[in-house]
Amino acid sequence: MHVPPIPSLATEDPQLAALIEGEAQRQHDKLRMIASENYVSTAVLEASGTVLTNKYSEGYAGKRYYEGQQFVDQIETLAIERAKAVFGVDHANVQPYSGSPANLAVYLAFLSPGDKVMGMALPMGGHLTHGWSVSATGKWFTSVRYNVSKETGRIDLDEVRDIAHREQPKVIFCGGTAVPRTIDFPGFAEIAREVGAVLVADIAHIAGLIAGGAHPSPVGYADVITTTTHKTLRGPRGAMIMTTAEHAAAIDKAVFPGLQGGPHNHTTAGIAVALKEAGTDDFRAYAHQVVANAKALAAALTERGFALSSGGTDNHLILADLTPKEIGGKPAAQALDRAGIELNYNTVPYDTRKPFDPSGIRLGTAALTTRGLTEEQMPQVAAWMDEAITAAGKNDEATLERIAGEVRDLLASYPMPGFAR
Ligand SMILES: *Cc1c(COP(=O)(O)O)cnc(C)c1O
Repeated sequence: MHVPPIPSLATEDPQLAALIEGEAQRQHDKLRMIASENYVSTAVLEASGTVLTNKYSEGYAGKRYYEGQQFVDQIETLAIERAKAVFGVDHANVQPYSGSPANLAVYLAFLSPGDKVMGMALPMGGHLTHGWSVSATGKWFTSVRYNVSKETGRIDLDEVRDIAHREQPKVIFCGGTAVPRTIDFPGFAEIAREVGAVLVADIAHIAGLIAGGAHPSPVGYADVITTTTHKTLRGPRGAMIMTTAEHAAAIDKAVFPGLQGGPHNHTTAGIAVALKEAGTDDFRAYAHQVVANAKALAAALTERGFALSSGGTDNHLILADLTPKEIGGKPAAQALDRAGIELNYNTVPYDTRKPFDPSGIRLGTAALTTRGLTEEQMPQVAAWMDEAITAAGKNDEATLERIAGEVRDLLASYPMPGFAR
């Protein structure tokens, strides 16, 4: 049953209530390894589902365009102060609707249409909003890309430096969406300084690890830090932009009135709760356990013949090239889903297959760590993955079904926030 319970919804709209209950059960029964997903706490769920959704509050605390902000001003200020404390930044804007609009606000703050931006190429692990061609950021701005080294699967800062010096971008993005290795923020900062570019650290995936001390922080190196709040940070779907005092006004103006209207106050409240949680010892332990689990899973997968991009992981994320397993990423991901193991197909660097039918899979350990799994279970997870992928190659549905049952049995011992059996 969904927690908090949804009895009014069940009465008023049973069709929708049943779908939500179905999703809660699904999240409970599956080994959720989509690297960008997590389970938020019941407290975050409660905050996100409140009357705050009724309120308009365009502007910022103390400078709103509507009346009645006695409580919303305090809620947004609380979220901002907590963000500043958790990450150690001068300024935080908690209003961006999600990670993509947060990044677009950065373009609006620092660039004019046609100006040059530099980011990691999408097929190398970068994000669409770092200037990829199908994104507005690639259509309305001139973008140049850096890759990872074909040999090491890691960013080659010498290559980044060469491109930056040649192309003179105004903004450089570091961070990405399929990057299994530590981002060298000081290294990127040095290059940005050399060419006079604004350095943006997009920590969407690793924000929780940074908050929990399990990944180095970009603070003091990046001019601007953008992040989603719903990945390893374990908050509601939303985003934040953090900056030095110098860029605070430009960022705030870009978010509102530059790009958005009223902030989503129920989400702001959920972010405030998540940030309170992120300041606890429990969260620090979670962040370190996420990385320990990823390393244990990477080792177990390697032992089973999986080819991991960059040879392993430093964070929560693993990118595996399934070419040695003689199956594409997509059929593998679909079979794994039937086996109760949820992840996504993904290109690997220098993939020879198409983005819609790539060679790899991407997985992460944030959600399963929130459930309470540790290194102890990772060899079993790797074994299930290996067996399911082999079964997929033989159209062996019975094996997939058996694994799904075993996954369900294991997870029955690990309570899920947001669900009660
Ligand atoms: C997830 C992600 C985003 C975008 O977040 P949305 O909330 O999906 O818009 C931006 N940058 C990076 C690096 C991401 O991983």
